[in-house]
Amino acid sequence: MFRPLNWLLGLFSLDIGIDLGTANTLVSVRDRGIVINEPSWVAINKRTRRPLAIGAEAREMVGRTPADIVAIRPLRDGVISEFEITEAMLKYFISKSHEQMLVPFPRPRVVVGVPSGVTEVEKRAVYDATISAGAREAFLIEEPMAAAIGAGLPIIESRGSMIVDIGGGTTEVAIFAMGGIVISRSIRVAGDEMDEDIIQYARNKYNLLIGERMAERIKIGIGSAFALPEERTMTMRGRNLINGLPQSVEISSIELREALAPSINIIVDTVRDAIDETPPELVADLMETGVCLAGGGAQIQGLADRIEDAVKMRVWVAEDSMTCVARGAGRVLEDLDNYGRVLVGLDRGSTHH
Ligand code: ADP
Ligand code: MG
Repeated sequence: MFRPLNWLLGLFSLDIGIDLGTANTLVSVRDRGIVINEPSWVAINKRTRRPLAIGAEAREMVGRTPADIVAIRPLRDGVISEFEITEAMLKYFISKSHEQMLVPFPRPRVVVGVPSGVTEVEKRAVYDATISAGAREAFLIEEPMAAAIGAGLPIIESRGSMIVDIGGGTTEVAIFAMGGIVISRSIRVAGDEMDEDIIQYARNKYNLLIGERMAERIKIGIGSAFALPEERTMTMRGRNLINGLPQSVEISSIELREALAPSINIIVDTVRDAIDETPPELVADLMETGVCLAGGGAQIQGLADRIEDAVKMRVWVAEDSMTCVARGAGRVLEDLDNYGRVLVGLDRGSTHH
C-alpha cells in the first residue's frame, strides 16, 4: 500500500539497524551500509561506575588500566547484565552514527537486535535506552531473525530455512518458517569459549600462560574444524608457568583443532539436535535450502564442512557473516510492510514504571 506521509518522511529521515553483539556492536544506515563496527567494550570508573570510554577506545584500555578503571563487556554472555552501561553504549553509538551525517537529519528510526533469550525487562530496557538515545521510533528484533534477513534467507516465505549465528558469547540456532521462529537454541559456547579452549590447551600442554587476545589471534590465524589442505603453524607468546619467564611456542593447526574440539563439538551437536526436533516437512525444506552460518565464529576454517558432515545437508557461510545482524535489522525498516511482523512485541503495559 502506498502511504504518502511515510514516503515523505522516508526521504528525510534516517533508518538505523543496530547489532548489539556480545563482542562487537555494528550500526548499519540505510543507503550507506555499515557506519560503525566497534568492540562492545565500556571502560568505567570502578567506584562511581561512570563510563569513561566506549568501543575501540575502551578495548585499548583492557589490561592497561589504572587500578580505579575497569574495562567490561556488558553483553558478554548474551544477557544485559549491566543496564546503565549498556544504555550508555547504545547512546554513544546512536549519536555517533547520527553525527556522521552531513545533513542535520531528523531523529532516526532504529531497529535493535536483541538476543532471543532476553527477558521482558531487558527488552523494555533496550527499548527505553534507544528512545532516550534520541530515536524517533524504536523497534526490537531477535538477533537470529535479523541475521537470517541479513544473510538473505527467505524467512517470510512458508518454506523453512535455518541460521546458525556464532558470535563471541553465544551461538544462536534458529529454524524459520512463515516469518516465525519454529525451533531455536541458544548456548553460551561461541568464539570466547574457543579462546578459552586455546588458553587451557597452552597451559596443559606447554605450561604456557597466554592472554585472551593472543588466544584469539591464534584462533583467527590457524583455527579450524576440519583437516586443512595444508596444515600450518603459528607462534604463541606468553609466560612460562614454571619459571615465570617469557616464552614462545610454535603451535600447529592440527594441535589447534584438538584444542578447539570441545567447543566445536558442542556447536555441532546443538545444530544436529535442533534439526532432530524439526518437523519432517520442514526438514525436507532444509534439505533444499541448507544451513546458513553467520557471525564472526562462522569464519573458523572448515566449520561449514564439519557441520555438513554431521547433518548431511548443504552448509554455507553467509556473505560478510559478521555484519548480517546489523544489515538485517536495517533492512526491516526498508520494508516494514513485509517485515513489520517479525519485530518483537513489547508488553506496552509495563511502559510506566
Ligand atoms: P557478537 O555478535 O557476539 O558480538 P561477532 O559475530 O561479532 O560476535 O563475532 C565475534 C567472534 O568471532 C569473536 O569470538 C571473534 O574471535 C570471532 N572471529 C572473528 N573473525 C574470525 C575468524 N576469521 N575466524 C574465527 N573466528 C573469528
Ligand atoms: Mg551477533
